[in-house]
Amino acid sequence: MKKHAIIPVFIPHIGCPHACVFCNQNAITARTADVVPDDVRRIADEWLSTLEGRGLDEIELSFFGGSFTGIPMEQQSAFLAVAKEYKDAGRIDKIHLSTRPDYINEEILDNLKRYGADVIELGVQSFDPQVLDLSERGHSADDVYRACELIKSYGCFTLGIQLMIGLPGDSYEKCMESVRQTIKIGPKIARLYPTVIISGTKLCRMYEEDVYKPFSQEEMLRTTTDMYRELTNAGINVIRVGLKASALINDSDDSRVVGDTYHPAFRQLVEGRIARDEVASRLAVLAESGITGPVHITAGPEKFAAVIGHKAGNRRFFAAEFPQFDITYKEDLSIEDGKIVIERPDN
Ligand code: SF4
Repeated sequence: MKKHAIIPVFIPHIGCPHACVFCNQNAITARTADVVPDDVRRIADEWLSTLEGRGLDEIELSFFGGSFTGIPMEQQSAFLAVAKEYKDAGRIDKIHLSTRPDYINEEILDNLKRYGADVIELGVQSFDPQVLDLSERGHSADDVYRACELIKSYGCFTLGIQLMIGLPGDSYEKCMESVRQTIKIGPKIARLYPTVIISGTKLCRMYEEDVYKPFSQEEMLRTTTDMYRELTNAGINVIRVGLKASALINDSDDSRVVGDTYHPAFRQLVEGRIARDEVASRLAVLAESGITGPVHITAGPEKFAAVIGHKAGNRRFFAAEFPQFDITYKEDLSIEDGKIVIERPDN
């Protein structure tokens, strides 16, 4: 597997005049001060002082946070020029940025191409008109189709799509429809963000006034798991599931997560659920054949953690659901990545 590192440069709300109901960008980026191009140099130098010489295959400089291409063009160019310096010097490999679908046009893409930008991620969130409207996104699904088509037509950008789960007006079916639309578009990468209620946002007020009902934790997990599975099966690399804890809360204000809407290890929960479903269906086949007694479950390191589950939740699940088996678990480096071997010792 490729060893890959990201140098994150947070561009807070400066690029975005919108006010999506879930967004408190200052809290999410954990920065309130304006970022200037010199900050990009300082951040890159700081990170590279620890990253260089570690034998990494790829280092990306990523502009996260606001809507990068919503910033005035001269400012975009000033940020990109610094990133390009590092790329031209061979100190970073890729320039990555995230933006809104309605901030993509030929002039913007020509400029990104000029400065050697590689990856463009679009905050799509949902393809459902009602969800987009209730979340006050200020763009339509048609904006997404148009932006994706244009980005792909350049042939030099890697396209990413970010989707959110459990926004106002959302449902399991709408989320799965957003996944189907995403697969039709065919980005290389995706991110899945379960909706988190942050104090101070309009979403928080909607929650307190009972206008917004978040997904339950189980609904969120089931939906995100099915979305992750579909995207992965379609060959789309899901590079992130859930917000990073460090990116969520801003020490400089009193923002906080409201309700039961955040889990720090959501990706682990999703991968654990996928492994649990696979193991459970295979154990069910054994159980239906009347088999009982010892069963060995073996997997490579990555999959093994998923089989055991977050805080060993899957082990407890298998013990409760399949009491007829005496299950032992083993991690085995020689097992192919992603494979789970289930065998009976007498076979
Ligand atoms: S477009 Fe992005 S940065 Fe702007 S308000 Fe919405 S979520 Fe926040």
